[in-house]
Amino acid sequence: VEASYNQINAVDDQVKAFLTLNEEEAKKQAKELDEKLGSDASILYGMPIGIKDNIVTKGLRTTCASQILDNLNDPLYDATVMQKLDTENTVNIGKLNMDEFAMGSSTENSSYENTRNPWNTDYVPGGSSGGSAAAVAAGEVFFSLGSDTGGSIRQPAAFCGVVGMKPTYGLVSRFGLVAFASSLDQIGPITRTVEDNAHLLQAIVGNDKMDSTSANVDIPNYSNAFKEDVKGLRIAVPKEYLQEGVNPEVKEAVLAALKQYEELGATWEEVSLPHSKYAVAAYYLLASSEASANLSRFDGVRYGVRTEKNVDMVDMFKQSRAEGFGDEVKRRIMLGTFALSSGYYDAYYKKAQKVRTLIKNDFEKIFDEYDVVIGPTTPTPAYKVGEKIDDPLTMYTDDVLTTPVNLAGLPGMSIPCGFSSDGLPIGLQIIGRHFDESTIYRTAYAYE
Ligand code: GLN
Repeated sequence: VEASYNQINAVDDQVKAFLTLNEEEAKKQAKELDEKLGSDASILYGMPIGIKDNIVTKGLRTTCASQILDNLNDPLYDATVMQKLDTENTVNIGKLNMDEFAMGSSTENSSYENTRNPWNTDYVPGGSSGGSAAAVAAGEVFFSLGSDTGGSIRQPAAFCGVVGMKPTYGLVSRFGLVAFASSLDQIGPITRTVEDNAHLLQAIVGNDKMDSTSANVDIPNYSNAFKEDVKGLRIAVPKEYLQEGVNPEVKEAVLAALKQYEELGATWEEVSLPHSKYAVAAYYLLASSEASANLSRFDGVRYGVRTEKNVDMVDMFKQSRAEGFGDEVKRRIMLGTFALSSGYYDAYYKKAQKVRTLIKNDFEKIFDEYDVVIGPTTPTPAYKVGEKIDDPLTMYTDDVLTTPVNLAGLPGMSIPCGFSSDGLPIGLQIIGRHFDESTIYRTAYAYE
């Protein structure tokens, strides 16, 4: 814990991964844990961990990087994942920067600060869990939690050269995760190694009566995945994942990884995900629709900041939201409200739901014959701060390789697979069957 804060003191004024530190409390807790350390300590005992700022932490400021929650200094409860980490005796180092309400791909939509990519601080760390990935890459913590609605764990993990897992929808409780798009959101671990990742996932999974979408499934011991090699593993490589828009260096890195899998005894074949090209359009309609409903709770009354202007009640709602939300959040609320409005619902929302089913069916067909799907996590490595922020549509289309996984509810992971000629990390994406995180870990571990 002390080493964590030393590293934060040394680098965080450049990396800017943290929004809030928990230093006094964490050091106190570490001391107590030192004193009662016994031989039965869990593997995560005393481990410093950073938490994305959309996960509610009792007594510790939780803002979602939004001005509308700027004064939420003392939340009344812990998210389920925090309660679970507590029983493992991990130590919460602090809250990590993100795109406002997890909407974005570069962490530039934070209303507080721009987190930088630790490999080269001119570049973005990715997003929306940019703080979570950068903190691990910069050695400020070994473990962090992020959330992934359309790629927000995997994409920053790829940009920062770390390991990020988006679990199967329903595996990890969403209770206490501030909702963006409830049918897509999942909390997941970001770590330096695949093994660490499995340990952290093990700690946070499980059925939860506080989340009605939480799944009631048997939880395997993920560490068993490391005992098996990948001989005979059947890998599917969607041709759409190596096509248009994918940078040649990224493609080359992925093909080199596939070659390594062949040498390890796995086989791979090209397959097709014919509907994946519609994933970005369907995702942004559905995610924005759900967001427009979820974010209606921020009204200046029940949560967060209220306008100081002297206005009547309805104008107070309007003014508080006008002042509290940033541009990207407003854009999503407008898009979502439009897509759900009568007369447009069938043409947009309903159609996007149908596309979602087609995308899910594409994957199911592939998993009849293959164990995992592999491709790049992102079409390009990290780009420069400021390069895409004025062009939201380009930023949206960059999510083409991650959003299909959320729409299908599948687990997906990003692991490092080399560097671009500019010295920026490249991510390999491994996608598995529903609730088959074990095969993803087995596949990732063999490569690592
Ligand atoms: N980039 C996507 C978006 O802006 C994904 C965000 C996420 O997964 N939270 O919606």
